[in-house]
Amino acid sequence: MAERLPETLQKKLSERLGFYEDLGIRLFYRNRRIQAGLETEARFESSEIAADSGVIPQEERTLPKTARTFELPKAAPVAATAAPRFSPLPVAAGPSLFEAVDKIADDTLLKVREDLGECTRCKLHRTRHKIVFGDGNPKAELIFVGEGPGADEDAQGLPFVGRAGKLLTQMIEAMGLQRKDVYICNVVKCRPPENRLPEKDEVTTCSPFLLRQIDAIAPKVIVCLGSVAVQTLLETNRGISQFRGQWLEFRGRKLLATYHPAYLLRNPNAKGEVWKDLQKVMAVLGLELKKGKSA
Ligand code: URA
Repeated sequence: MAERLPETLQKKLSERLGFYEDLGIRLFYRNRRIQAGLETEARFESSEIAADSGVIPQEERTLPKTARTFELPKAAPVAATAAPRFSPLPVAAGPSLFEAVDKIADDTLLKVREDLGECTRCKLHRTRHKIVFGDGNPKAELIFVGEGPGADEDAQGLPFVGRAGKLLTQMIEAMGLQRKDVYICNVVKCRPPENRLPEKDEVTTCSPFLLRQIDAIAPKVIVCLGSVAVQTLLETNRGISQFRGQWLEFRGRKLLATYHPAYLLRNPNAKGEVWKDLQKVMAVLGLELKKGKSA
């Protein structure tokens, strides 16, 4: 016999469904907690995200003034024809909330931006200066998803324009692309104060817009930069080290998680791992390594 949900939970669910309807998303909901017997309530707790996290909060402020270039480390070449390895990890039993969200027919970035409006849906709006929606090619084959705007991004309204952003630009250029070729966005569109990690309610409120951005662009590859992005899309609290560099699947698209550029600024030794990850992405996109650049 079907289990009856407690009244408070039912109320919460119907509020949540109403919220998604407001966003124009028709949701088919399955309660994974009951199905899988998993305790998912705490999955966006800051402490859990921070543990084993690729993202160091406050990185933009405390970074040393070195590591300005994305030097290509000596890593084993990845053949351009290498077949991607798909081994979706068992993140949780049943489809994730995102996997179950219907694609909105004929959605466009413009419509998503319009629906976002001058958003006041979560507390981040109180301290933000500018909404950082996303930037780049609306038909990009490659999307980079970061965590949330920092101070520079909040001031300019553009993603990844601070120190971490400069490193991301170098990474993109090392792949033989330019920023305008790809699309860059974040899980949350407003800066968390003091560059803290976005909180669970903020991620839950904002991530449907990220989902619509991804669907509207329909990229070949999604690269998650750091824990928050991959944990949000895959709905897990597992650390990035369990996903990094592996091909995963998200709503029928190829997804790969790598370290956040801010982490690389503090840990330049990890650049080699990231470069290997980017070469995997290049192989899938048919991008060749430029002559003179070491693999
Ligand atoms: N870090 C992010 O995750 N996103 C940005 O836009 C800038 C820094």
